[in-house]
Amino acid sequence: MALIPFDDRDGEIWWDGKLIPWRDAQLHVLSHGLHYASAVFEGERAYDGHIFKLREHTERLIESGRILGFEIPFSAEQIDTACVATLAANGLTDGYVRPLAWRGTEQLSVSAQQTSIHLMVACWPWPNLFGADRLSGVRLAMATWKRPHPETAPTRSKAAGLYMIGTMAKHDAEAAGYSDALMLDWRGQVSEATGANIFFVIDGALHTPIPDCFLDGITRRTVIALAKRRQIDVIERAIMPDEMAGASEVFLAGTAAEVTPVREIGDLSFTPGRITETLLGDYEALVRMAPDQVAARLNA
Ligand code: PMP
Repeated sequence: MALIPFDDRDGEIWWDGKLIPWRDAQLHVLSHGLHYASAVFEGERAYDGHIFKLREHTERLIESGRILGFEIPFSAEQIDTACVATLAANGLTDGYVRPLAWRGTEQLSVSAQQTSIHLMVACWPWPNLFGADRLSGVRLAMATWKRPHPETAPTRSKAAGLYMIGTMAKHDAEAAGYSDALMLDWRGQVSEATGANIFFVIDGALHTPIPDCFLDGITRRTVIALAKRRQIDVIERAIMPDEMAGASEVFLAGTAAEVTPVREIGDLSFTPGRITETLLGDYEALVRMAPDQVAARLNA
């Protein structure tokens, strides 16, 4: 399938307070965000016209900027409104929404105190990160790149710079014929895939790593709540790679990946089973509920 470059599409993009034509949303090459990765972003999904957990994404975006030392010059209400308006302006009810905040052009040095902070929101159709055949399970390679210590990188921020690790790991995996990479952390513990958290079914319970050096995904938290509702035990703990052989089912959870079964990790094979299917179905039903029903369902 031929890829259409992102700057060769039509539509509208929200930029610093207003919607502008997609093709006019051009950035100067001497922007701090481009040179020094002083940028944070979100990945959201709209289903049937509602952006799932919009406020949680907006709050994480604001917090991601604060961790990098900047304040996005829009309130959470304004950012929510911008996301909804962008979706509507592009005539989408289902799709992926991408807000991004970055440092501007006033200074181009490690010090960036004088830079202005910008915000844009774009959206586009994006059915699933792993495509339509994901239900039979994706194959993960073991990455050689590791998730860094939280004193080495701003690991709680959805910071653009952290994605260089993911891109390198994912490219290695793709070159070896896999769909994605499973990364260990700096201690050698299982952490996450390049854009999604990971869950293991072991002896009927759901096990997932403690997110102390990678994103505590909004989908991850949602899946945990859905599992508890089904009386499935959820155990958040350090998981070592040699324990993965004892898992009967494995799946990924993320906004773009949604709930995606895993059928291989390196030499290990898994068969998507009942717990994965149940949570996948519960997640698909939940995201299509109206926002007040979502809250009621998860708090029940
Ligand atoms: N880890 C990484 C590296 C990610 O990019 C994402 C996607 N934002 C996640 C985990 C899952 O987060 P969420 O469920 O909030 O999308």
